[in-house]
Amino acid sequence: MLEVIDVARRFSVTPAVRGVSLTVWPGEVTCLLGPSGCGKSTTLRMIAGIEHLDSGEIRVAGQRVADPRHEVPPERRPVGMVFQDLALFPHMTVAENVGFGLPRTRGSAEQVAHLLGRVGLLHHADRYPHQLSGGEQQRVALIRALATRPRVMLLDEPFSSLDQRLRVEMRELAADLLREAGAAVVLVTHDPDEAMMMADRVAIMWEGRIRQEGTPLELYRQPRDLTVAGFLSELN
Ligand code: ATP
Ligand code: MG
Repeated sequence: MLEVIDVARRFSVTPAVRGVSLTVWPGEVTCLLGPSGCGKSTTLRMIAGIEHLDSGEIRVAGQRVADPRHEVPPERRPVGMVFQDLALFPHMTVAENVGFGLPRTRGSAEQVAHLLGRVGLLHHADRYPHQLSGGEQQRVALIRALATRPRVMLLDEPFSSLDQRLRVEMRELAADLLREAGAAVVLVTHDPDEAMMMADRVAIMWEGRIRQEGTPLELYRQPRDLTVAGFLSELN
């Protein structure tokens, strides 16, 4: 379980995140929706450990991984990430990228091959990232993040650079892989269809706070205010 407890972060004088709380259970996908600049990526970065907290606390599987005085470094958190500018290691092959962070055993090699097979890229195992299409790179980024069997998966607009057809394909593939992995998932997206297809719960974020959180149906039926209603009406 991922527990984000009243976390806040300001940059110089501007508060980016003003006290966000979120609980995500294993196997559950929470979609974070909200306008540009409302603090979605900053929230994910704090969970990942690449941004400091000014206050609050983050727990994964009951273990505290961050508060303002103590932060477990990102590589020691059971957290996988796929961000829009995916950043595969350019000097490593596809297989090396996926195996990065795994112990160098035969079991790992088999796991890498299995994962590459799942996303239909086994035949590209020895290529380098620049020899792949955008969609192929995105699939590698996804299974690389899943390879270490993280308890928490963070996806920040992972498919937004893909064309519509690929985006639909990736969404379905990602939904399957995430369900199998059983991680607690936080997905940031601007794509309403993506939110509706993938979310068990939706959190609407506004000016650094979560304005309302619930199942898609709850929010749709009983929006707290016009801001939430306005956001959901874009979702059809
Ligand atoms: P978008 O939908 O455009 O990606 P977002 O909801 O992800 O937006 P954040 O990236 O979390 O927004 O940014 C929240 C606020 O914090 C913005 O006003 C942004 O300018 C500011 N901010 C983010 N990172 C930094 C930084 N490193 N230094 C200063 N300000 C920052
Ligand atoms: Mg962002």
